[in-house]
Amino acid sequence: MQFNNTWHQELEGFYTALKPTPLKNPRLLYHSQALAADLGLDESWFDEQHVSLWSGETLLAGMQPLAQVYSGHQFGVWAGQLGDGRGLLLGEQQLADGRKLDWHLKGAGLTPYSRMGDGRAVLRSSLREFLASEAMYHLGIPTSRALTVVTSDEPVWRETQERGAMLLRVAESHVRFGHFEHFFYAQQPEKVRQLADYVIRHHWPQWQQENDRYLLWFSDVVKRTARLIAHWQSVGFAHGVMNTDNMSILGLTLDYGPYGFLDDYQPDFICNHSDYQGRYSFENQPMVGLWNLNRLAHALSGLLTTEQLKLALSGYETELMRCWGEQMRAKLGLMTADKDDNNILTGLLSLMTKEGSDYALTFRLLCETEQQQFHSPLRDEFIDREAFDSWYNIYRQRLLQEGVSDAERQQKMKQANPAIVLRNYLAQQAIEEAEKDDISVLSRLHRALSDPFTDSPEFADLMRRPPDWGKKLEVSCSS
Ligand code: AMP
Ligand code: MG
Repeated sequence: MQFNNTWHQELEGFYTALKPTPLKNPRLLYHSQALAADLGLDESWFDEQHVSLWSGETLLAGMQPLAQVYSGHQFGVWAGQLGDGRGLLLGEQQLADGRKLDWHLKGAGLTPYSRMGDGRAVLRSSLREFLASEAMYHLGIPTSRALTVVTSDEPVWRETQERGAMLLRVAESHVRFGHFEHFFYAQQPEKVRQLADYVIRHHWPQWQQENDRYLLWFSDVVKRTARLIAHWQSVGFAHGVMNTDNMSILGLTLDYGPYGFLDDYQPDFICNHSDYQGRYSFENQPMVGLWNLNRLAHALSGLLTTEQLKLALSGYETELMRCWGEQMRAKLGLMTADKDDNNILTGLLSLMTKEGSDYALTFRLLCETEQQQFHSPLRDEFIDREAFDSWYNIYRQRLLQEGVSDAERQQKMKQANPAIVLRNYLAQQAIEEAEKDDISVLSRLHRALSDPFTDSPEFADLMRRPPDWGKKLEVSCSS
């Protein structure tokens, strides 16, 4: 495996170089075999001899661990300097096919940016991040990924004593909106430019020589962010902590904390129990994405004129609505676009809101619709059958108008409507067993999430409606 660290080599003053602080008695608890294979690692990398690699005690040639410095707006307020308080960028793996991937070890100990924190991650939150990022990846949503989870005997205090853990996270980049804000507010415009040049050189090399490269680049950041959030909305994912320091410049889902996938369709769903105002509720995410982009635009005001920034930002809503519309149309099984499609969608969503229908299961059951049938298999799921029937009539007419066979439409719809999502209670069950060193539930859930669009009878129990206790779980935001 080949590593280097261009952040270390090209961006002096943007980080503090330091080594991970080992955990007490680390053990490799779990790893993603599929990701390992994609990175060219055979299974021998995950034997006992290699625990020291996954727990940060040994480094591979070319790795130069460092903590990045960044700042950010948290819950709408300028928070000043944050930075990697408990994670280190080890280096970038150079793959044979030309890809370059950051390896970031989360839970690697104190850094100069730890502030009041202990520099650690607990097993619970590491597994939550592992499962969610793998789930999102297999749903086709841009995200960081997770390779390994190490557990240990290191006591770490959150609300109670938990186990210290480390997560090896892999991503195309860990650059955040907050990196640009940091140097802008530190009044170092040359560093904002240096960082923009770095990001363009490594991630948008096709525009390096263009005179309007900053405009092209920022416009693309706007669109990627819009597409990311359209994806979140269509799959029913709430991030929970959309602070600008958690916003990826590449439009990846980054920093999984108190996230949640919708069980019942509830637009004002708040997954983060510390979010008292509901700033980051599910339905607010599109608006918050734009707010965050406005903060980034402000930080780039030395590179682009106000008109240019406004021009780029004006692409957000169009791209988000285009992408979301495309995805929701696919969820409804509509192959063509019609001006009344939005009424069909909002009609269904408002019925679902009223009845608290399960988001994933309702759409999955909708896939079973047969155009010739006057009644839908979904009908029995609704209490107000009359209201459902009148919606269904319009929907069925719309399907008939397309003239696509049931078989073809159903097959396509199933690719847009997952049979399984990472419900909180499923993650919780896997975590409880893993905390007792039993990874069977975790590994089974991971397998099911790796093929989310298939109805596997083997995983039928993971695809059901959540039990009542499972809906009421409170997710601690301490991680
Ligand atoms: P997050 O909400 O996890 O994105 O974290 C926000 C900031 O707090 C980042 O700068 C993190 O590195 C830092 N942070 C979070 N938890 C800890 C911890 N246990 N120790 C040190 N820093 C932390
Ligand atoms: Mg963060």
